[in-house]
Amino acid sequence: MSKKMPVLFIGHGSPMNAVLNNSYTESISKLTKNLPRPEAILVISAHWETDGTFITSSDSPEQIYDFYGFPEELYNLKYNPTGSKKYAEMVARELVDSKVMLTEKWGLDHGAWSVLTHMYPKADIPVFQMSLNRLGDEQYHYDLGKKLSKLRDKGILIIGSGDIVHNLRIMDYDMNATPFDWATEFDNYICDAVVNRKHNNIISYQKLGKSAELSVPTKEHYLPLLYIVGLQEDSDEVNYIYKGIQHGSMSMTSIQIG
Ligand code: ZN
Repeated sequence: MSKKMPVLFIGHGSPMNAVLNNSYTESISKLTKNLPRPEAILVISAHWETDGTFITSSDSPEQIYDFYGFPEELYNLKYNPTGSKKYAEMVARELVDSKVMLTEKWGLDHGAWSVLTHMYPKADIPVFQMSLNRLGDEQYHYDLGKKLSKLRDKGILIIGSGDIVHNLRIMDYDMNATPFDWATEFDNYICDAVVNRKHNNIISYQKLGKSAELSVPTKEHYLPLLYIVGLQEDSDEVNYIYKGIQHGSMSMTSIQIG
């Protein structure tokens, strides 16, 4: 029986981080040295939204380059782990009451591979993904996260990949630009809620007002966090893997729970 796995929220920011070496990429690379080796990795990525919840079941998932206008080197980056039909079916069974479906119509999007290329560069651990049901509200995603809790005892590393703050319209092209005040305010507010288990503040983040509105103009990058806090147990320690904001309005804040 393997050790209980932690759960991770990774801020992924710009796809360029996949080919860069900076304080953020160093932090997520270092992290895995201290984690139990997973049997498989389940990623809930901001970049896969569907009507209903789906799980990828292909044993050889295709790497998806789901972005436009980036330098050639990013399209040349290969990250090709196996998938896991076995574990996908296990998760589907675990979530049988939630009408979760298996599919081979998606592979690994950059929400998964842009971070895993730093965390597990050898691509020697099976990876599969679960989609974000665009028909579900915040409570739905939080509750579905909770239902994944048994997987932590089965050696599966669950990663939510998104951004606590993600505003492309107002972003600064300079990755090292000073963060906007509202971005820092929202990032800190959510971090405080995770550390102090104020899950209602995370589910009902909109009550923070203007800074929430600017930080979460669309929900898809925020929602993966709800799965991860849904999995947070009283005995879990919380540690920052990285805390910071790139491009003024893109939070790279990454958190380990457990
Ligand atoms: Zn993204």
